Amino acid sequence: MDGTGPAASAGTLADAWNAAADEIVSAGRRMDGRGWVPATAGNISVRLADGRIAITRSGTHKGLMGPEAVMQVEPDGRATVPGERPSAETLLHCQLYARDPAIGAVVHGHSVAATVLSMQDPAPALEFSGYELLKAFQGLATIVEPHLEECRLGYLIRGHGVYVWGPDMFTALARLEGLEFLLACRLEERKLPR
Ligand SMILES: [Zn+2]
Repeated sequence: MDGTGPAASAGTLADAWNAAADEIVSAGRRMDGRGWVPATAGNISVRLADGRIAITRSGTHKGLMGPEAVMQVEPDGRATVPGERPSAETLLHCQLYARDPAIGAVVHGHSVAATVLSMQDPAPALEFSGYELLKAFQGLATIVEPHLEECRLGYLIRGHGVYVWGPDMFTALARLEGLEFLLACRLEERKLPR
């Protein structure tokens, strides 16, 4: 805040909100362009300066949405505006933000490679160094919690998709691309005769 009065503060807050919503919208388009968020899959969030979280609404298509598809939740996942419905996986985002103050953005997608590899592989984890595969989706925030210590950059939920984070959206997306690349490579390797 620059201390020039309430109008300026309100403007600054609105600018920050618009910037966060724009980042989420363009991240959604980028993920959709790669085929990582089919139908209404996936969710994307950014931490705001006041600690609240801008996150995609439930049931939005990440490639076709505009800024109106982004809403605000409290750090504990409750909608700031009562009655609004955030993504069903909002608590997984909140959990990450609560755990590490350095996290500024979280992205989650459902790629073919993540889904097929995690369903097919009986091992508890794919060996890309520490991306944990988890068995269930019910009560996921609780299931994920004990594993977060060993997941520094992201995790993969069996049959579901990946969660990746970073200090900002640019870094989170770069990490997502890196991880999806590894997963796509592994899927291609499996198709080759041994
Ligand atoms: Zn999901």
